This record gives sequence, structure tokens and C-alpha cells, in this order.
Amino acid sequence: MSTLDPLDLYDRRSLLSDDERLVQDSVARFVDEEVLPIIGDCFASERFPAELVPRLADLGLFGATLSTHGCAGLNYVSYGLICEELERGDSSLRSCVSVQSSLVMHCLERFGSDEQKDRWLPDLARGTALGCFALTEAHGGSDPARMTTRAERRGGDWLLNGEKHWITNGALADVAIVWGMVDGRAAAFLVERGAAGLESRTIRNKLSLRASNTAVVSLTDVRVPERNRLPGAEGLKSALTCLNQARFGIAWGALGAARACLEAALAHTSDRVMFGRPLSRTQLIQSRLADAARRLTTGQLLALRLGRLKDAGGVAPAQVSLAKWNNVSAALDIARDCRDILGASGITLDHAPARHMLNLESVSTYEGTEAIHRLIVGRELTGEDAF
Ligand SMILES: Cc1cc2nc3c(=O)[nH]c(=O)nc-3n(C[C@H](O)[C@H](O)[C@H](O)COP(=O)(O)OP(=O)(O)OC[C@H]3O[C@@H](n4cnc5c(N)ncnc54)[C@H](O)[C@@H]3O)c2cc1C
Repeated sequence: MSTLDPLDLYDRRSLLSDDERLVQDSVARFVDEEVLPIIGDCFASERFPAELVPRLADLGLFGATLSTHGCAGLNYVSYGLICEELERGDSSLRSCVSVQSSLVMHCLERFGSDEQKDRWLPDLARGTALGCFALTEAHGGSDPARMTTRAERRGGDWLLNGEKHWITNGALADVAIVWGMVDGRAAAFLVERGAAGLESRTIRNKLSLRASNTAVVSLTDVRVPERNRLPGAEGLKSALTCLNQARFGIAWGALGAARACLEAALAHTSDRVMFGRPLSRTQLIQSRLADAARRLTTGQLLALRLGRLKDAGGVAPAQVSLAKWNNVSAALDIARDCRDILGASGITLDHAPARHMLNLESVSTYEGTEAIHRLIVGRELTGEDAF
């Protein structure tokens, strides 16, 4: 009998350091003990499990790659493993950590002033504050240059007007990084909860990421002092730098959802007897399981290589795009097929695949749709911008 791990056929785990394995194991334990018992109910009731935020902070999962202001100073492979294990629980938790870590804390660290970092990074690391990243507007997320949110000078302050859609953590956030145009160029501002003219409305009836808060954030004459403008954020390329950080985590995270689905399908097919034998002893089922393992394994090796490159000094946007596109697409295929392999029971929340399948539809759309990542890779190959 084979001793290979069906969820890690090429023994990727042996390529991890002891520290990386420790990170993976501690997040895996947290997911098994504290996420999986409640996440189906959270999904059903459209509730973000805010009670887990202090636990995420205790585990050092917010801003884990930063090494100042109380952050854990882990490498990028560890960050990837964190995302993968969290998303094995549910994409909503990984989304919360991605936004907090990659889109808010990384953005502050990279483009913020010392005063802004000192004010926010410790609270964000401790989970006593949540952040959101407000870039997308209703008329087109793929082309943020079309944004109509404006920031205008009013004496020493800025006056912000506009409306942002589909903002993760939007109704929970203590601080929002809001992108708006200043003289035709994108700039970023810290807008604090309670600012006059700031309103957020949770988007209801989502069929995906139901355990994540997604909101419309509107700004009407919101007055922001100059000290809240991120001095280093210059144009959309700064926003894209943050998006690339988040896309890196998603390339790993989606694999966690895929693993959960394959695990459920393997358990189901070994128990379920049809036509006098377990489903696992039929060629068609084995072919589908093998296909899922093929997609998962190639995604795992791609993610690890991406992580090692990033830890060694950096990755090109096209390398991140290819991994986000490949791994989310693979995870969606796996989730859909495993949902079907579970038959009727696969459409319930008693089993993970349908929940992951629905979540992954959002994961495929946000942080650049598949089309956008194809175009980024195409541009890298040809030198031609075809957006
Ligand atoms: C649950 C959820 C959470 C989100 N969280 C955040 C957040 O925290 N902050 C934030 O700023 N945004 C967030 N978003 C928004 C997300 O980034 C956008 O939805 C995404 O960028 C796509 O934009 P869109 O929905 O406007 O689709 P569109 O840009 O309108 O795209 C529609 C379709 O057109 C295709 N398309 C676009 N351009 C081209 C082209 N040139 N050629 C071919 N096809 C093309 C796309 O691939 C897609 O299939 C979130 C979205 C969701 C669903």
C-alpha cells in the first residue's frame, strides 16, 4: 500500500523548513478546532465570525511578513501556508487576513509615514483594529483608472467624495485606505471610522463569501487631514503593488479550499457503495480523483516556487498573475467536481465542497479576474498591452 499523502503527492511538506511546518501546523490546528465547527453556520447566516479576530491576532497572522510594530516577521512561504490553511477552513477568513495584511498593513508599511505606521500597525497586528482597502467602484473593477472618487484640497485638508463597492471588511473597518483621484492621478487616504460623511452598507444576499463582510463605502464631503494622506502612494501602480501582495496569498489560499474538497471526495467515495462496490473502486471516479490530485499537486509546486522566488528577492507581476489564475481556476474545477462526486449530499452545507465552490467564484473575480491575469501574462510574453 502506498505511503504517499493523497493531498500532497509530491511531498511538498518535505521542502518546508521546520519553522514553516510549525506555522502550518499551528494554523491547521486552529482551523480544525475553531473554524470548521462554526463556519457552516456562519455561511448559512451570512455572519462574519468576528469572535475569531483576536485568535487570528494571537496566532500572529495579521501582517505576518512585517517585522516591526509587533508583527511576526515570517517569510513569504509561511504567509502562503497561513493563507492555505485558513482557506481550507473558508475563503472568508483568508480574505479578512489578506485584506488586513496585504492590502492594509503592507500598504501602510510601504507607502505610509512613520506617524501613520505608529498609529495603526500595532492595533492592526493586535486585531484591535480592522482595516479595509477601498479601490473598486461600481462601474468597473478591472479598470480602476476609471474611478470617479475625487480628493480636493480644502485649506490644509482634503475633501473626499465618491462611492466604493465590494469592499471586504468595509462595514467593520476602523480604518479604510481609500483611493481617489487628485489631479488625474490616484492617491490614497486613511479614513477613520466615524468620520463625518463616511457611510458603509453591508451587501446582503451574496451567494459567495457569505461569512465575509462586503460593503458599499460612500464618502460625502469627508474631510481628511493632510497627515492622513499616504505620502508614498503615487498613482495606480502603488495600488497594484498592494494587489500583487494579496494575489500572492490567494494563489496559495485557493489550494486550501481545493484540499478540503478533495479530502471530502476521497472520504465519500471510499464509504459510498454503488452497484456492489465502493465508488472509489470505479474507473470513472478514480479518473476524476486523479485529475483533482493532478491540479492540486501542480498548484502546490507552483505556489512553493513562487514563494521561494519572493523570499529570494521578488517576483514579477506576471509570475504572481499566472499562479493566481492557475491555482484559483484549478481549485474551482476541483470544488465543482468534488461537489458532484458527493451527489445530492454535495449540495448541502454538511459537506465543504459546495461552500468552497461558491466562495471560489468570488476568489476568481476579485484581485483581478482570470481575463485580467491572462492579459498580464500575455503582456509579459509579447510586450504588447492588450487591456
Ligand atoms: C466578495 C468580493 C470582495 C471584494 N473585495 C474588494 C476589496 O476589498 N476592495 C476592492 O477595492 N475591491 C474588492 N472587490 C472588487 C473586485 O476587485 C472586482 O469585482 C474585480 O476587480 C472585478 O471588477 P468588476 O466586478 O467591476 O467586473 P468588471 O471589471 O466589470 O469585469 C466583468 C467581466 O469583464 C471581463 N473583462 C474586463 N476587462 C476585460 C478585457 N480587457 N478583456 C476581456 N475581458 C475583460 C472580466 O474578466 C469579467 O469577466 C471584491 C469583489 C468581491 C466579489
